[in-house]
Amino acid sequence: MELNNIAILGLARSGIAAAYKIKSMNGAPFLSEFRKQNKVKDSTSLIRDFDCEFGGHTDRLFDFKTIIVSPGIPLLIPIIKKLKKNGNELISEIEFGFRIKNSDSKIIAVTGSNGKSTTVSLIHHFLKSAGFNSILAGNIGEAFTSFAIEKPGFDFIVLELSSFQLDLIKSFQADISAILNITPDHLNRYNSFDDYALSKFKIFQNNIENSIAIINSDDEVISKKIDEIKGSIKKFSMETKTDMYFDSENIRFGNNSYNLKKSKLIGQHNIQNIMAAILSTSDFIDDKNLYQNAINTFSPLSHRMEFCKKINGISFINDSKATNTDSVKFALKSFSNPVRIILGGSDKGEDFSILKPLLHKHSCKIYLIGETRNTMKNLFEKEHRIELFENLADCVIKAYKDAKNGDIVLLSPACASYDMFINFEDRGNKFKEIVKNLDEK
Ligand code: ADP
Repeated sequence: MELNNIAILGLARSGIAAAYKIKSMNGAPFLSEFRKQNKVKDSTSLIRDFDCEFGGHTDRLFDFKTIIVSPGIPLLIPIIKKLKKNGNELISEIEFGFRIKNSDSKIIAVTGSNGKSTTVSLIHHFLKSAGFNSILAGNIGEAFTSFAIEKPGFDFIVLELSSFQLDLIKSFQADISAILNITPDHLNRYNSFDDYALSKFKIFQNNIENSIAIINSDDEVISKKIDEIKGSIKKFSMETKTDMYFDSENIRFGNNSYNLKKSKLIGQHNIQNIMAAILSTSDFIDDKNLYQNAINTFSPLSHRMEFCKKINGISFINDSKATNTDSVKFALKSFSNPVRIILGGSDKGEDFSILKPLLHKHSCKIYLIGETRNTMKNLFEKEHRIELFENLADCVIKAYKDAKNGDIVLLSPACASYDMFINFEDRGNKFKEIVKNLDEK
C-alpha cells in the first residue's frame, strides 16, 4: 500500500500506533483529531513527529487516498459520510495491520458480544504454554500495529476484534476466526440489531477453503447465518453433542475430555469461552495434559466475575465489565444463593426488561446507580425490591448492611460506565476499594 498517502482519523491507542508504524516504514501520515490539542495524550510528541490537526477535521483529509478510522468514531457522523462520498478509502487499523503483516504469522481472531477478552487470553495462554511465540492484540492490551508484525518471528497473532474494528475491514483474513455469541450491544452505534450482527459476521467474509471458523452452535443468530461461512466450521455447544460440548461435568472433544473442577473461571459462559479457546488452537496443540494444566492455571481477568472478598459470609463479586444485558444474565445464572445486584450506568440503547425473569429468580434486591437508574426503577419496581443511590459507595455500603450470611453482592451493571467513571476498570477498581474498606459487622 502507498504509505505516503494515508491519513489517520482519531488519535487514540490504535490510531497513534498506526501512525508510528507508517513512520517507521518511511511513510508520512497526516493526523486529524476532533479533540483540542490539550486533551490529547502525548500531543507534543505527535506534533513533533507528524503533520497534525486538532480541534476538528478539515478538508485536508480529502487529499489522502486511504483514511485509517479509529474504532471510537461512529460511522454515521458527517465527516465519514463526506469522505465516503468523495471516494476516499476508509479502513480500520486492523485492516492496515493485516496489509503489512508478515505472511508467516498466523492470525487467530475472536469476536462476539461477550467473552472476547477472556477467550483471547485463554488462547494466548494455551499457545504460550505450548511454547509458541504468540502475541495478544487488538481490542485488548496493545494495538495490533504496535507490534513488529511486518517482520517474521511471531508464530501466532491472537486478535480480539470489536464490531467497530470489523466494520472497516476489506481484505482482512484470519487463519482461524471465532464468533462467540451475538446478543444486543452498542445499539446506539448501529441502525439495527441486524446491522450489528452483520458487522460481527464480517470476521468470516474473506474466509477461504483452508480457513477455520469456530462458532457457538447454541447461538440462534449465528446458527441462522451458518450457510454464509466459507472454510471448515467447528462448533461448540452447551446443549447438543457437536464437535466440542459440555456434558454437565466435562468438556468433550473426540476422545479427549477436560475437567473444570480446578478452573478459577466462574459460570457457564466461561465454559463456552474455554471450549472456543481449545477449538481455536486444537490444530496446533495435541497434548491433552497441557490443555488440562493450562485450564487449571488460567487466572480470570479483573472485572469479569472477579471474586473480591468474603466478609461475614457475604461474597462480593466485581463484574464491572458486564456492560450489556446478556453478560448480566450469565452472571445471575452463576449463583444459587440470593444476589444483591448493583445495576445502572450510561445507556447503550438496550432493553433492560429482558432481565426481569432472571432477576426474579436470582436477585433478592436491586441497587440502582447512574444515568439509567430511573429507567430501570420504572421497569423493575413493580416486581422487585429497589433502592436508588447517588454514588457507588453508598450503594455498596447499603447492600452490605442489608445482606445476610450467604448472600452475594454483585456489581454487574448492564451499562457502560462513562456517566460516573473513567471506564469499566475505574468503576471496578472503585468497587473493590469500597469493599476492601468494609468492616466486619
Ligand atoms: P468482552 O471482551 O467481549 O467484553 P469479557 O471476557 O471481557 O468479554 O467479558 C465481558 C463480560 O461478559 C463479563 O461480565 C463476563 O463475565 C461476561 N462474559 C464473558 N464471557 C461471556 C460469554 N461467553 N457469554 C456471555 N457473557 C460473557
